[in-house]
Amino acid sequence: MNALAATNRNFRHASRLLGLDSKIEKSLLIPFREIKVECTIPKDDGSLVSYVGFRVQHDNARGPMKGGIRYHPEVDPDEVNALAQLMTWKTAVVDIPYGGAKGGIGCNPKDLSKSELERLTRVFTQKIHDLIGIHTDVPAPDMGTNAQTMAWILDEYSKFHGHSPAIVTGKPIDLGGSLGREAATGRGVVYATEALLAEHGKSIKDLTFAIQGFGNVGSWVARLIHEKGGKVIAVSDITGAVKNPSGIDIKELLKYKERTGSLKDFNGGDAMDAHELLVHECDVLIPCALGGVLNRENAAEVKAKYIIEAANHPTDPDADEILCKKGVLILPDIYANAGGVTVSYFEWVQNIQGFMWDEEKVNRELKRYMTRGFQNVKNMCKSHDCNLRMGAFTLGVNRVARSTVLRGWEA
Ligand code: GLU
Repeated sequence: MNALAATNRNFRHASRLLGLDSKIEKSLLIPFREIKVECTIPKDDGSLVSYVGFRVQHDNARGPMKGGIRYHPEVDPDEVNALAQLMTWKTAVVDIPYGGAKGGIGCNPKDLSKSELERLTRVFTQKIHDLIGIHTDVPAPDMGTNAQTMAWILDEYSKFHGHSPAIVTGKPIDLGGSLGREAATGRGVVYATEALLAEHGKSIKDLTFAIQGFGNVGSWVARLIHEKGGKVIAVSDITGAVKNPSGIDIKELLKYKERTGSLKDFNGGDAMDAHELLVHECDVLIPCALGGVLNRENAAEVKAKYIIEAANHPTDPDADEILCKKGVLILPDIYANAGGVTVSYFEWVQNIQGFMWDEEKVNRELKRYMTRGFQNVKNMCKSHDCNLRMGAFTLGVNRVARSTVLRGWEA
């Protein structure tokens, strides 16, 4: 099932639990606006190359639309639509005053030089600058993009609209980025994990973890779990996978990856098959990479008791069903990885106020939002007698539906 069909299915299930009117259901499903643009750039060798860029603005009932821009070969309209919709529910779950959006360019950033990436980002910004804005739609980094990408968008946007730091979040600190934003998604995942475990009388230091993905999110999750005394027994990324039953020294692994660009041949553990990681013996599995990695093929083999969805839609609906039947507890993406967009909100607030917070305040507020979010999800689970995914979906969808009804439809 593709990402959009899976997301729509979860939405419809939540809408049924909430007893939503079919007219509201339909209006929430159709995106506010879908943008598709041609981005042609000269390569460094003078030849021309063309890419397709997307920005899907899903809903703005609760505030400006918010979401990342992804550079990845698998970016397609359905995927961007699904991710934009997930942002709408995600921002509502943690109760920040935003709607949802997502963008992407179907390219492989690893095949492009820095100057080619800069040209591509500037062309994309030129094509969408009139449709984004500080109070309309605020982009951020996602897979394949980073603070530098945001700096180029900020610069290009400012040529048309004047200096506007709040037009993007996840910027470099020197350009008005927030302290703690880089680590925020990973840190939020760890706060979310702690909230779930505390409910079961457990803590990170008593458990073993397998982490799939060692990019921005995965490496922060691994580092923070390691610092809290959790035993990270397996880590993978696209370059390979490593396991060590007595726990991987994450600080050493980070240094090794920094030096070699890869996890391969790290001598602090044994090499393993990257697919094997998902079904490896462990207490907590944390997918931090692409969508759909847990599916009909491997779900029955999963050994973890808890799955924390640091990635967006890593569990497809077939896997969801199989894992629920097995009694695996899944902390869903629209809550578990909301720390990134939450600190994006803090960054936007700081830019608008022109006042910088210290990192301690950012992390303290992030913890408060994540802990409150968990309690709110749990309350929905109780009142609708449902699992954590539906608890989060009913929470998000209900908040957006309420705002939509309050705003009304008169033309
Ligand atoms: N790309 C991140 C996400 O999927 C962050 C979005 C944002 O900060 O706007 O949640």
